[in-house]
Amino acid sequence: MKIKSVRARVFQWKGKTVPPQGNFCSNAMDLLYAPQETMSTFRFHSWTVVEVETDDGIVGLGNVALAPQVAKLIVDQYLAPLVTGQDPWDYEYLSQRMYRATHAWGRKGIGMAAISAVDIAIWDVLGKSVGKPVFKLLGGRTKERIPCYYSKLYRTDLKEMQAEAQRYLDQGFRAFKMRFGYGPANGQQGVVENLKSVEAIREVIGYDNDLMLECYMGWNLEYAKRMLPKLEKYQPRWLEEPVIADDIDGYAELNRLTSIPISGGEHEFTLYGFKQLLDRKAVSVVQYDTNRVGGITMAHKINALCEAYSVPVIPHAGQMHNYHLTMSTLASPMSEYFPMFDVEVGNELFYYIFDGEPVAENGFLQLRDDAPGLGLTLKTEFLDQFDIVE
Ligand SMILES: [Mg+2]
Repeated sequence: MKIKSVRARVFQWKGKTVPPQGNFCSNAMDLLYAPQETMSTFRFHSWTVVEVETDDGIVGLGNVALAPQVAKLIVDQYLAPLVTGQDPWDYEYLSQRMYRATHAWGRKGIGMAAISAVDIAIWDVLGKSVGKPVFKLLGGRTKERIPCYYSKLYRTDLKEMQAEAQRYLDQGFRAFKMRFGYGPANGQQGVVENLKSVEAIREVIGYDNDLMLECYMGWNLEYAKRMLPKLEKYQPRWLEEPVIADDIDGYAELNRLTSIPISGGEHEFTLYGFKQLLDRKAVSVVQYDTNRVGGITMAHKINALCEAYSVPVIPHAGQMHNYHLTMSTLASPMSEYFPMFDVEVGNELFYYIFDGEPVAENGFLQLRDDAPGLGLTLKTEFLDQFDIVE
């Protein structure tokens, strides 16, 4: 079996969208004097789909959501020629080939994200070629089903947030992640607002369910040091991305500061990036995303690394490429889960492009043993609501 072609297409959403509220989540831009660039302008309404086709007619699906237009260019110009004509079973060689050939400008960010899409598509091919789900090629089933946590609870009106938490508590979820709306620019009033929101959610879900707190890099070290001791009494399972991804010392300092585990990694890349985070005890929970970190080949190695460090892996965003990694390792106890919503920020688009995603039942996800590859197909239902760039 040889790879015959690699096709990258950008799916640009042109359908209905919900405008996000002003400070629905703190973010890295909050520290700048740029009031016009609040989180309400944070959107990514397109996604790149990569199809790897073999000479015997198998088509594998991969995807990348970071800077989709640039990712397509990288796949077309640099990566496709490196894998075309090659045996997809030589996946480690192909992963190294893409990583090393782009090393001068790749390594982190969009270069690795583009590699991820091709690598994920290659693994889909491998699974389909032997009629097995990808997780069976990675170690198989390590859990009867995957526990997952409800992830949304954007900062809005507190009563609305409470109603949202109640709705998903009633559906059987036992773990919830909420977003902070305020950061250093909002002063002490923002501190109070942040605390009120955590209190409001704890009021609904109680203390026999898990609560996770998301900053999305919207704080700085000084602000995080002020907030963490105040948050301890709410017993969060973790606090996510308090500072920007490059401030590894900041993560390490915060991770030592209180009993609250610090998590991160959705903006980190490759085995080496995670080795640094782990060596420096910067995070207590690793949250790579397979479609950024270098694909399934790389994520599988990071799982092994995290197992050796006894640090749990709970990948970013859910989605099939991550679920297969979670199913196949003991290092990963649970998954993030976004139910399908109207298109708002853009992460929802995955569910408009692909069919086959599992739907949570009572806070658990199941992967099929009889669905070869990733178990995804391209959805036709919403095709007319995308502009597709070849
Ligand atoms: Mg996050």
